[in-house]
Amino acid sequence: MTAPIDDSQGAISLSFDDALDEHLNFVVPVLNDHELAATFYVHLAAVGFTKRIDDWRAAAECGHELGNHTIFHPADRRKSWVREGNEIDRYTLDRMRQELETANRLLAAIDGCHSRTFAYPCSNSILGHRGFVKELLFKIGLERTRLPDLVDRWHLDLGSTEASYVAVVRELFPAARAGGLERSSDVPPVNEFDRYRIPSVAVEDWSVRDLIAFTERGLASRTWVNLQFHGVGGGHRLNCDLAVFREYVAWLRANCRDRVAPIRDVAARLWTDSLREIKRPEPVSTAT
Ligand SMILES: [Zn+2]
Repeated sequence: MTAPIDDSQGAISLSFDDALDEHLNFVVPVLNDHELAATFYVHLAAVGFTKRIDDWRAAAECGHELGNHTIFHPADRRKSWVREGNEIDRYTLDRMRQELETANRLLAAIDGCHSRTFAYPCSNSILGHRGFVKELLFKIGLERTRLPDLVDRWHLDLGSTEASYVAVVRELFPAARAGGLERSSDVPPVNEFDRYRIPSVAVEDWSVRDLIAFTERGLASRTWVNLQFHGVGGGHRLNCDLAVFREYVAWLRANCRDRVAPIRDVAARLWTDSLREIKRPEPVSTAT
């Protein structure tokens, strides 16, 4: 559906997180009207995913990527929507592995693809819980000082189960999107990218001018611009106005249509082995 991307001139990927109704109702039709494709990072437990599987399959058939965003969207327990079952504190590396493998299998049953990218929920690649020392530092308000980093560096956080799960992601996916950028940031050159922490910026209440300025700055330095959306026309606290989104997509189509592609497609061109099939997971043994 999309024109071939010209990496030497930079690239642009739009990604949409959390399987919102607004993505199917507004975003997919706007993108399809302009013959542009994007990545939708869906977590399988989302109501907006399970009740509209046929619509998500149809989106994939139009060239959009269904990216893996876990099943339960594990996150920090301090967030209001996090329950005991999806507290990232309680996750282990094997539990995360099983969840990501299962999500890959189910997504493949929907779109027939055996290669897709991943986005860390809340852009956080650490699972497990803090130990006694960091817990104490957080309780007395020293969370944002240098002390937690020093505790990690010196391995002083007794009782901690915290671990990075990037190594698990590396085994299961060709590339993964993280966060890390602000509206005023310059996107680093592609040769400095870690393909398992592709930098992106979260779009929240930006104007068309903001969107175009960020995109043009990235393209001027011939890098890969990754814009991370949640709500579009509603559906999430992090929102992009629908009229703004429509205008921005029309601008993309008019000015840089051949540079816009899903993250999976750009990753496949940048890192030529990234089309390799996802490692087939070992079946999870069941109790007898
Ligand atoms: Zn998310």
